[in-house]
Amino acid sequence: MPEYSRDFFLNLDSQDSLAPFRAEFHLPEGLIYLDGNSLGAMPKSAKARALDVVEREWGEDLITSWNKNGWFHLAEKLGDKIAGLIGAGPGEVMACDTTGLNLYKLLSMALDMRPDRKGIVMEGSNFPTDNYMAQGLIGQLGRGHEIRFAEKEGILDAITKDVAVVSLTQVHYKTGHLLDMKAITDKAHAVGALVIWDLCHSAGALPIDLNGCEADFALGCGYKYLNGGPGAPAFIYVAKRHQGQARQPLTGWWSHAAPFAFERDYRPADNIWQTLTGTQPILSLSVLECGLDIMGRADMAELREKSLNLSSYFIDLVEEHCGGYGFTLATPREWDDRGSQVSFTHEHGLAIMQALIADKVVGDFRAPDIVRFGFTPLYTRYVDVWDAVSRLKNIMEQELWRNPEFAKAGAVT
Ligand SMILES: *Cc1c(COP(=O)(O)O)cnc(C)c1O
Repeated sequence: MPEYSRDFFLNLDSQDSLAPFRAEFHLPEGLIYLDGNSLGAMPKSAKARALDVVEREWGEDLITSWNKNGWFHLAEKLGDKIAGLIGAGPGEVMACDTTGLNLYKLLSMALDMRPDRKGIVMEGSNFPTDNYMAQGLIGQLGRGHEIRFAEKEGILDAITKDVAVVSLTQVHYKTGHLLDMKAITDKAHAVGALVIWDLCHSAGALPIDLNGCEADFALGCGYKYLNGGPGAPAFIYVAKRHQGQARQPLTGWWSHAAPFAFERDYRPADNIWQTLTGTQPILSLSVLECGLDIMGRADMAELREKSLNLSSYFIDLVEEHCGGYGFTLATPREWDDRGSQVSFTHEHGLAIMQALIADKVVGDFRAPDIVRFGFTPLYTRYVDVWDAVSRLKNIMEQELWRNPEFAKAGAVT
């Protein structure tokens, strides 16, 4: 292993083509923020945008803003911007609703398109809301669907001819492992199944090629790597060839073929508008656009390379400086097998993370024993990796995590 030093990392920063992006984000002085995989940092432009929407668009222009300030088409406009980040085309993505709601809509559509099949393949260890939503939906449908839970290695074998839908998250929220979108999509299609990709931990974190992989459906978060703000609208993708082929269950008026005809009976739109429900949160959508506009200027290949470099250095440094303290790497080492986060298991993970946060290194803890660090190349510097591990080393050496104040979890970890 090479001899690393703080200067080594400062030097990497001085050569980093993505370094100028950091100035576009507000980051508290002295804080090393390694939790952009959970809540992205605030674009500086968000404040002025929010003020303008509140004061001028809402305050002055009031209802005329639906036309005058483009409110009615905002979900679609932002959807097209997100499309550019995930390998989708114009008219295939909407920015709307929440991740969970979008999964519900897509799963329902996909099951309708495969009426004779009962199987749904999901990863049991996935972020729970995906599984909960699927369980809620099949209970509601009452048509005998069954979820077949598989884990990473077993997924391909679980995709058999009785499967209607494969619904997976591309990058695992705990371990950061990256599934092979192309191989899994191909296998699903070979047996006649459809695929839904949850991109919560991959949109804005790595290059994604939905259309290149011939993905059917996808969805993801606006508030993680896309830096859209707390509770930002999520997004939903339906491949052009499937639009108008199936109904989604939340048949609100914005998904009607002619919302302002105010007809008595429902008629679905036959394009991406069919995925909407009703009036969208315009303040939140407006601020999400700030994050998308920054991300849209970044080169995704450069971003991916920096992300993997940051996370590789972090792994090297933790193993070198904190090797004897009981951390076990939970994230795959291979570049092709991971997203943009690094997780370790540790029996005192909760207390260690709280001690780190008190020392201004913000990551997060996922029960029962995962400490998780997200690497967001637009605003994380190489020197942050060095400094974060230095502080972690100090906490372990001095056993600062044993302080009783770090033993208790807040409502959100
Ligand atoms: C973050 C995340 C969610 C969050 O769902 P919300 O509906 O936004 O609360 C869902 N699924 C996955 C895989 C996630 O990582």
